[in-house]
Amino acid sequence: MIKESKYFISKFDESDADTAGRFIRLLEEEYDKIHGCFGFEPKDTKYKFCLCANAEDYIKETGKKEEEYQPWMVGNSNFAEKKICVISPSAGNDEEYLEKVAVHELVHMIFDEQTGITENEAWIAEGIAIFYAGQTEAEYISRENFPKISEISGICENGDTPDNFIDNGGYDYAGIYVGHYIKTYGSDAFIKAYKNEILPEVYSGFEKEAIEEYLKNDKH
Ligand SMILES: [Zn+2]
Repeated sequence: MIKESKYFISKFDESDADTAGRFIRLLEEEYDKIHGCFGFEPKDTKYKFCLCANAEDYIKETGKKEEEYQPWMVGNSNFAEKKICVISPSAGNDEEYLEKVAVHELVHMIFDEQTGITENEAWIAEGIAIFYAGQTEAEYISRENFPKISEISGICENGDTPDNFIDNGGYDYAGIYVGHYIKTYGSDAFIKAYKNEILPEVYSGFEKEAIEEYLKNDKH
């Protein structure tokens, strides 16, 4: 089925109509919120959103090769096609988890479109999506054994994250570091860093402070 709404043209299986409705409402709301939050003007083009019924459909819609696909791959944004794909909760993952994935992909799409930048610093590009979508899990965060920003740095190219980002816990910590970066230096500085206009340098002890602050405010 195809459904057109204010900012999205969505595709989903008929059996997923109710679930797709919830995802579309969320994406529409978040679209406005993200633009407001970072002072972006919405563009005219509508994004495509596909709630993929199963892994096979996800592979087809994202254009991935079958051998590339891994079961943890549940969300994808394709900037060239302005298309966000998320696998349906009916394929086995928790809906709340997948909603965060959808918002994460939307942040990538909006930042790519608004800045025109698709090659930039991994902890910045992934961190903003993780931070905004609220995907950091306190149980994976350590006060003693955490990566320095330099250890999760590298160039993200068209959605491909460097290995050291993944291997050194980038997905666990980048959201915390970006949250602290925005709090310390402001959103304008963050956007400049995102656009590669300034080097996102931080002071010594930044990571430790970011973690302490996150754990203090976390409600878990
Ligand atoms: Zn991402």
